Amino acid sequence: MKKSLPRCPYCDTDLTYLTAFHIKANKSYYCENCHRRSYIKLDKLLQNIAPVLAIAVVITVLVFSIFIKAYLLGATIVLAWFLMFYAIVPFAVKLVPKGKDVGEVGNDIEGNRVLK
Ligand SMILES: [Zn+2]
Repeated sequence: MKKSLPRCPYCDTDLTYLTAFHIKANKSYYCENCHRRSYIKLDKLLQNIAPVLAIAVVITVLVFSIFIKAYLLGATIVLAWFLMFYAIVPFAVKLVPKGKDVGEVGNDIEGNRVLK
C-alpha cells in the first residue's frame, strides 16, 4: 500500500508535507495554484491507528512507570509513539473536489474575496 502526499484534485499540484500537516484540521483547502477549494478528508487508516496509539501509550506508561521504573525512557518512547503518528498524518490527508464550481468571483468560506 503506497501512501502519497495529497494533491489538488483540480490541477494536480502536489501539497508539501508541511502544508498537508498544516491543513489536516481544516474543513477545506484553498489551492493557491488554481484558486479552487476542495474538501479535506482524513484517511480511515488514521482513525484506526488513533486508538492503537492510545493503547500503546497507556501500556508504555504503565510498564515504564510501575514495572521498570525508567521514567525518562518511558517518556521518550511515548514521545516516539506520537512522533510516528504525526509523521504519517500528512499522508492520510485527502482532497476531494467540491462538486460544481461556484460563480466567477465570490467569497470563500473565510469571507475572503477570491477569483474562482
Ligand atoms: Zn489546484
